[in-house]
Parts: sequence; structure tokens; C-alpha cells
Amino acid sequence: ASVWSKVETGPPDAILGIAQAFRECQDGRKVNVCVGAYRDTQGKPWVLPTVRAAERKLLENDDPKDYLPIEGDAGFIAEAVKFAYGQNVDLSTVAAVQTLSGTGACRIGGEFLAQFRENKNIYIPTPTWGNHWKIFKECGLETHPYRYYDRSTNRLDLNGFIEDLEAAPEGSIILLHACAHNPTGCDPTLDQWKRIADALERKGHVAFFDSAYQGFASGDAERDASAFRYIADRKTIPVLLAQSFAKNFGLYGERCGTLSMICSDEEERQRLLSQLRCVIRPMYSSPPRHGSSIVKTVLSDSQLAPQYYEECATMANRIQAMRELLVKTLAEVGSTHDWSHVSEQIGMFAFTGMSEEMCDQLTKDYAIYLTRDGRISIAGLNDSNIRYVAEAIHAVTD
Ligand code: PLP
Repeated sequence: ASVWSKVETGPPDAILGIAQAFRECQDGRKVNVCVGAYRDTQGKPWVLPTVRAAERKLLENDDPKDYLPIEGDAGFIAEAVKFAYGQNVDLSTVAAVQTLSGTGACRIGGEFLAQFRENKNIYIPTPTWGNHWKIFKECGLETHPYRYYDRSTNRLDLNGFIEDLEAAPEGSIILLHACAHNPTGCDPTLDQWKRIADALERKGHVAFFDSAYQGFASGDAERDASAFRYIADRKTIPVLLAQSFAKNFGLYGERCGTLSMICSDEEERQRLLSQLRCVIRPMYSSPPRHGSSIVKTVLSDSQLAPQYYEECATMANRIQAMRELLVKTLAEVGSTHDWSHVSEQIGMFAFTGMSEEMCDQLTKDYAIYLTRDGRISIAGLNDSNIRYVAEAIHAVTD
């Protein structure tokens, strides 16, 4: 027998498993509203013109393929931190490393915290991006849920959220979605963030922001950064930030991101950076350079940068338009349900409130592929399929 005969089949990834089923489906009506990747008006992936322009520049300049340092490309990191915290950020007090997109950023931050925090409790919103649970558990942190979303009202459960922050042991780590909370699309308002910050401060908690949609949520990268900028500006709450350039630059497969930590001074920054390098080195030595070279080229170019911001807004605006059109079309096809939460939500996804049974029926009877929590990727909708999807949703929710 093979030495591997006792290895059992592992569970498929919930989301990637659905994507696979979609590819295999032969039904001509099939619609993919599962994936978290942007699609244009024709349902096609879109490489941003500024990304292509940057790639051409890299080729023309004969950009080398050498190894990057362990912590990544300093020029990219500086642009990324300015993108997050604003042009006037004091880079000498931010310890930042390049990561394998947002997932890698969460992992590096989690590994660091597991090593250096005595209190290893991390609180994660319910619901959340499913990978959060696995990433932080793998890091050796103790994962706990906090209340975030009230399914009975389809709105934020602010009181439950604050109560759970207050009940967590002092100095816990709190995972926060920077904007466009996945999967609910429901973010706190700035006033609500103030109350959340008060609770974090009272309890000496650490804020760990996961920012996977900056610019992609509202179309305005400054506005989408307001929650973590506000909390960092208070200077009383330790802040970590995981940044992904997958969605806002459409660089999904390039695996480009950062993990940054706000420090009290340059000396602390150097110490933290040295430890972040120690986390990275045995994992993958150094990050890939293509994606970060693109982001650096775009953001540091006086012509490409403003053009990039427009392209990012184009994606956000199309999604917002589809969100409103979905709600309007649901009414047109006869749904009398209150779908107002869907137009109030923000980002790539609509959290519809449909039950698992309804989702299963959508897939079985209509070849519409979505996650069983009722989340649909608005980016998968376009003028050609939106009426079909609305009719199907109406049929299963009536
Ligand atoms: N965090 C959240 C909340 C996400 O939704 C995602 C992607 O769907 C990620 C992190 C990580 O994505 P990536 O590793 O592709 O940057």
C-alpha cells in the first residue's frame, strides 16, 4: 500500500468548490454570482488599462527579476502605506511589509500577534469572510465570534457588537473589516465607529483591520480608509492593517498586499520590522515582485495615478448601479419583499437574507451559483442576466 493510503480527502473550500461546480455546469442559463472578482458589463474579467500601462513600462525599462528583500519592495510599501493612511503619513513610524495579498497579510499579522501577545484571543465578526477563522487558528490564536449583523433586521447589530467588545478580556485582538464588510456589505457609520473606538480604548484592545476593498467600495479610496484612519488618529488604540490590492487594482492572481503596524517611534518600528522579517523568512523568504512593481509604478506616476483612481471608481460605480438595478428589477418582476438592505449595502456583495434552502433551489432549478449564506456577488450581474436572476430570486423567495 502507498505510504499515503491513510490520508483522507480534505474538505473542499466552500467558495472555490462552488466555482468549480459552476465551471462544470452545462446549463446555458448558468450565472456565477459566487466569485469575489470583478466582471465588466459583458461578464468578463477586466485588466485595468493603468495596470497594462505599468506592465509595458516595466518591460520597456527591462525591470529585473531579482529577489526582493524579505520585507518586500520599499518603494511599493511606501506607496501602499500612503494609499492607506494618506500622503502625509509619517512613514518612519509605520512598520510595514509586503505580503501575499490580503490573505498573506492576515497570516503574517496573526503569526506576529501569536508570538508577541500574551492575550491570544482574537474576536471575529459573525458572519465574516470564512478564511478568517482558519487563518487565525492556524497562527495559534484563540478565535471567538463577536456579534456584528442582525439577520432579523438585515442591519448592523451595534449594541451586540459593543457588548461583545466589553465582555472580551482586556487587551484582546479585534478583527475589523475596514470597509465593505464581507459578506454583509454592511459597515458602521463614522458615528458608530466612534462608539466602537471608545469600547476598544476602554478595554485596551488591539484593532486588526482587514482592508480588502479600499477604493473599490465607494469608488473613493480616501473615504473607504476613513474607519482605520480615524482609529489610528486617536493614537490610543494599537492598529494593524492588512491591505490587499486584489480587488481595487484587479491584481487577484498577482498576490500583492501589505501588513502594517503603527508604532510609537522609529526605534520601535525597527524592532517590529526585524521580527516581521523573522516571521516571513521561514515561510516564503521574500514576496513576488510583479504585482508590487505594478502598484508602485501606477501610484508613483503623476499621470497613471489619477487615471487609476478613475478606473477604480468605474468598477465601484458599476457595482453600485447593478445593486440598485437589482432592487428595482425585483420590484418589477413582482417581489413585494423589502430589499432596501440590498441597496444600502456597499461593496462587491449583496447579503440578501435568503435561506440555505432558497440558495440551493436557485442553484438546482436556475443554475445560479452562490454561497449558501445568501450572498451574491453583484459584480457577476450585468444587463444580460439581471432580469433572469431577479425572476429566479423572486420565484424562490415568494
Ligand atoms: N479579506 C477579506 C474580507 C476578503 O473579502 C478577501 C477576499 O475575498 C481577502 C481578505 C483576501 O483576498 P486576497 O488574499 O486575494 O487579497
